[in-house]
Amino acid sequence: MNNTTPATVNCRVHGRQSTNYACQHVVQSLNNGIPQGFWWSASSGNDARPVAWCNACEAEVNEFGEWNETYQATANIMPLCEKCYELAKAMNIKKKQKKWWHVWKSLSTSSGRSTGRDGRSS
Ligand SMILES: [Zn+2]
Ligand SMILES: [Zn+2]
Repeated sequence: MNNTTPATVNCRVHGRQSTNYACQHVVQSLNNGIPQGFWWSASSGNDARPVAWCNACEAEVNEFGEWNETYQATANIMPLCEKCYELAKAMNIKKKQKKWWHVWKSLSTSSGRSTGRDGRSS
């Protein structure tokens, strides 16, 4: 509706798609399968696919309180196709929660009670 021409990207996987943006870590997570978290600005409410970033970048944003050059260098926002964006979103949100559960569980069981069942009975 504004005169923003919808940019497109030629994705290796999905072909030509509309362009979306995410931090380099989110983009990386698509390649290495390691969830990095997935955040976006609450103020971009009516944007279907707002710029997204990972846990580390979120922590940095919280520290600085706003986007700035340091943060932008860290985040290194990169274009990715809308399908990749959706994949990254699903992957990072889902697996992040699962993983954190696992991490927390294993942390609390191993530090709390180490005499439990670790598979080695004497
Ligand atoms: Zn990031
Ligand atoms: Zn793609």
